[in-house]
Amino acid sequence: MLMQMYYAKDNFMKSYKGKSIYNGVAIGKIYFYSKGEQVVKREKVDNSDEEVKRFEKAKEQAITELNSLYDKALKEVGEVNAAIFEVHAMMLEDDDYIDSIVNMISSQKVNAEYAVAMTGDNFSKLFAEMEDEYFKARAIDIKDISERVVNCLTGKALDGNLGEEPVIVLAKDLAPSETVQMDKSKLLGFVTELGSSNSHTAILARTMNIPALIGIEALPELNGKLAILDGYSGTLIIEPEEDILEKMKKKQQEDLENRKLLMQLKGKETITLDGKKIHLYANIGSVSDVKAVLANDAAGIGLFRSEFLYLEKNTYPTEEEQFQVYRTVAEMMAGKKVIIRTLDIGADKQVDYFNLEKEENPAMGYRAIRICLDRTDIFKTQLRALYRASAYGNISIMYPMIISVDEVRQIKKIVEEVKAELMEQGIKFNEVEQGIMIETPAAVMESEALAGEVDFFSIGTNDLTQYTLAIDRQNPKLDNIYDSHHPAVLKMIQMVVENGHKEGCWVGICGELGADISLTRTFLKMGVDELSVSPSFVLALRKEIREVNISEL
Ligand code: PEP
Ligand code: MG
Repeated sequence: MLMQMYYAKDNFMKSYKGKSIYNGVAIGKIYFYSKGEQVVKREKVDNSDEEVKRFEKAKEQAITELNSLYDKALKEVGEVNAAIFEVHAMMLEDDDYIDSIVNMISSQKVNAEYAVAMTGDNFSKLFAEMEDEYFKARAIDIKDISERVVNCLTGKALDGNLGEEPVIVLAKDLAPSETVQMDKSKLLGFVTELGSSNSHTAILARTMNIPALIGIEALPELNGKLAILDGYSGTLIIEPEEDILEKMKKKQQEDLENRKLLMQLKGKETITLDGKKIHLYANIGSVSDVKAVLANDAAGIGLFRSEFLYLEKNTYPTEEEQFQVYRTVAEMMAGKKVIIRTLDIGADKQVDYFNLEKEENPAMGYRAIRICLDRTDIFKTQLRALYRASAYGNISIMYPMIISVDEVRQIKKIVEEVKAELMEQGIKFNEVEQGIMIETPAAVMESEALAGEVDFFSIGTNDLTQYTLAIDRQNPKLDNIYDSHHPAVLKMIQMVVENGHKEGCWVGICGELGADISLTRTFLKMGVDELSVSPSFVLALRKEIREVNISEL
């Protein structure tokens, strides 16, 4: 980590060099973000009445936060998904819960944080031991609301509530589940000490069109300071001098102008000079990303990472909740293709309520389709929701982390069961294209046989690179040698396109490499049919593709 210091007449400016994971310039105050989980210590208090008042105040603050989260979620993800915040607010009013905390403070003369955390743990254990599945699932909610109150007591952020003013978030590390919960309207950019270019947090930054840096020490003392995040040079400048501030504001303006120019390509076809049409789609993680897909005129959605639905929640999303989300996306896209990938959790995408065991090698562990084929109840719930939503638009389904023909056959069997059930219940659905992600070397080597089983392939270059090069995509130390341009990766892509086409499968790329303009011509020459990228890359790619003559490559 490099640090330079500039001394000026009347100012003290510092600049820190990191690595850019998304271009652009953000100017705003730093918000130092620390993790939600905290170590709560037991402390003796003299005045327990005062302590009870502190608790009451924190509880009210938590309820206010939950109400505003409810309003926000209602707008962004609909009533069914927003309901959890309402439930949490109600739980905080529960007499047994409140009495237990107040009693503990008064009788044991302990601090409010401790009483809340202990009561949370006790109640949560009680619920977890219940027979009834519904009550069992509330265990995690109790823990969650208690953590929220503890955070209100200690003044630390838990839920991505970033305050009134838009800010640049600075954190040691950000998990995808934390990033998705942040109030995007208040997020100008983010800077993390850890993290890598191809982690899901980095991908989220690109999807949200937010400049971001990694590799910069997260110093709490920078909290509240004015900063410039320069995604072009990978620099974070603290308390910039006036002339630098002016220069960077100009750069922001230029970016805006360039975007305006690209906007002229809206409504134009994505077609090469010699007439090959390319399906230029966008990647999303939630309903709220669809706005950007439409604003950038993508012809469809090539990857909806459905696991983000699970990451945003404290318990399994129900069939109805999922159905509403998939249906909303399908309807918003109004007949354009929407490819939804089934649940791909594991590795960096951890969901507490799945209770996954700690693994030595989570990227190669119990994850994605492996979980779905093992816990078929979860898989079937999602498939039912997807098929039900298919009646409202143009939905395709794709499956992640495939390694064999046998897996695809097992999936197809389960899909047939789900369809038969729906038919028997008189629930309408459409035929749905079935595809798989090609993101393991095994799937590449088996691509000819796999092509006979499905309608399309979508190459996940993020994982394909990590598994081919044996380089953990999460490891910041290896970020410099994590190279998606490696000839081994490019040869694999070529092989997949050829094998797919032999069997009439169309082939796309939905990993981050698809947006790399330095390779667009290579992909077109290989015969790639579709590219699915973060919404903000769509128009720049369209420009590039429209200037290519494949026959001359
Ligand atoms: C990939 O691996 O390239 C991919 C698109 O999936 P994810 O990044 O979500 O693992
Ligand atoms: Mg992947």
